[in-house]
Amino acid sequence: MHVATVDGRLSLVRDGRVTDVEKASDGLFGPDPQAVYERWAGFRDWAAGVTVEGGAELEPRLLGSPVPAPRQVFAVGLNYADHAAETGFALAETEPPIFTKFPSSVTGPFGTVALPPGGHTDWEVELVVVIGKAAHRIEPDEALDHVAGYTVGQDLSERTLQMASAPPQFSLGKSFPGFAPMGPWLVTLDEIADPLDLGLECLVNGETVQQARTSAQIFGVPDLLARLSRTVTLLPGDVVFTGTPAGVAMGRDPQPWLRPGDRLTSRIEGIGEMEQVFR
Ligand code: ZN
Repeated sequence: MHVATVDGRLSLVRDGRVTDVEKASDGLFGPDPQAVYERWAGFRDWAAGVTVEGGAELEPRLLGSPVPAPRQVFAVGLNYADHAAETGFALAETEPPIFTKFPSSVTGPFGTVALPPGGHTDWEVELVVVIGKAAHRIEPDEALDHVAGYTVGQDLSERTLQMASAPPQFSLGKSFPGFAPMGPWLVTLDEIADPLDLGLECLVNGETVQQARTSAQIFGVPDLLARLSRTVTLLPGDVVFTGTPAGVAMGRDPQPWLRPGDRLTSRIEGIGEMEQVFR
């Protein structure tokens, strides 16, 4: 099942066709894409039984983030050894470094993103986990019971601000407007049984810059959620950016920061693809 925000409304997308959830459910579920995570189990069961004939053709430009207003946005630093090596940071083997992207940075899967002044904006394709049931002090083997599904994310990062303080602070430099694109939709667990072995790829102007599998993550999804839940309560509709592999601009020589007009494509096997253009 692909759960999408289409023209601001909660929708199901199948084979390029859109079903509006409020209309198809006779108002059982409302149009707010964020509110559905509060009733996720009931929604999932309802949606599994929906058979849709026809439906409007999907216009990608109308897609918004499948999670438009999460209360909490968690992100994991240095979760792939090759990325830790290219950034020069020490590898976190015992505890993953966690930061937040402030929720005002969330945007949809297609559109333009303004580059902040300074000219050091970088890409980071990431698997994003969406929480479907509150979790506190859970074990790794329970973690997927609390997951609504997965989407593609970009952890856009302005490196000058990220590194301006000592020690470096990650959250501000990764929270400019539009710096947390997600989409093109949420894919449910029945379609992705194993988040631990998905191919992910990032391209700049059609040229591949990152290519890896989530099997290379140091802390996999169940482990990450269990560790986060030792401290915080993960809430329905929260998202977790699970880290990026090697190939970012920061790790290259010279460093090819994003420039106006650049086209950034991010894709994950079994989920889909999104694209931002910078100005
Ligand atoms: Zn990241």
